[in-house]
Amino acid sequence: MNATPLHPWVIANKDGMVEPVHCDCKAGLGETCSHVGALLFHIESVHRLMSRRTVT
Ligand SMILES: [Zn+2]
Repeated sequence: MNATPLHPWVIANKDGMVEPVHCDCKAGLGETCSHVGALLFHIESVHRLMSRRTVT
């Protein structure tokens, strides 16, 4: 709980192609860590929820 929060980030094109990724953790230096994976899953779920909304 006292650990400094990590700051993963990704750059993606509009077509969904993921370009560089990065994270502050040790595995993130190699651009392959679970934090980036979790961030990509979060982005996908938000995108899915946003596309389900209908204009009324
Ligand atoms: Zn990480």
